[in-house]
Amino acid sequence: MEAYRELVSEIQRDVERLRVEFGGVPCPTNCFSCCQNTATMAISEVEAQDLKIGLERLPAQLRTHIRRKAERTIKKLEAHGYSAENIIPDAGMKAIGVIKGTPEGECPMLIAGVCAVYEHRPVICRVWGYPIHNGNELACCHKTFIGKRRQYRPLNYTRYWNECKRLSSELGVEKKTPNCYLVLRLLSE
Ligand code: SF4
Ligand code: SF4
Repeated sequence: MEAYRELVSEIQRDVERLRVEFGGVPCPTNCFSCCQNTATMAISEVEAQDLKIGLERLPAQLRTHIRRKAERTIKKLEAHGYSAENIIPDAGMKAIGVIKGTPEGECPMLIAGVCAVYEHRPVICRVWGYPIHNGNELACCHKTFIGKRRQYRPLNYTRYWNECKRLSSELGVEKKTPNCYLVLRLLSE
């Protein structure tokens, strides 16, 4: 976990570099749209271990609220034939289609528009909103850096994700878990 904390520090430095170059936070105030369709996003084990710390620090009432959200999402996904295993191959992209735009599509940890585990959120949540290098592609939220994406050196998301995979493998768990299933697991451990 020490190596993961170093990775998070590196990401924070890289994000700060872009923030300074851009002249501030690129997201509109009070926007949390990117948390609204993330119930099936794939999370690696090393990120899960950090999330667990964040969840354990929450009051019991919030943990219960998060657990119920995750359970409602899983119930809806399973009614459409999904499971923790068959969601992962495309990183949850197809499965989110059946709950997109509904309360069940939301990240279980989003409460009243605020991330309940902000200091412990997964890597993608730390970088989304900034231009990221993802494989051979440049990706960015459609609401930020409009018309300016190529003017900045993007965040090296490929490296961050590869490091997550490497550290997860050191923990003995290579498989990723869809967000809602992971949250339920972490709150049950
Ligand atoms: S973990 Fe937090 S930042 Fe990430 S999708 Fe969930 S609510 Fe949003
Ligand atoms: S990354 Fe995009 S959707 Fe998410 S808070 Fe920023 S502007 Fe909103």
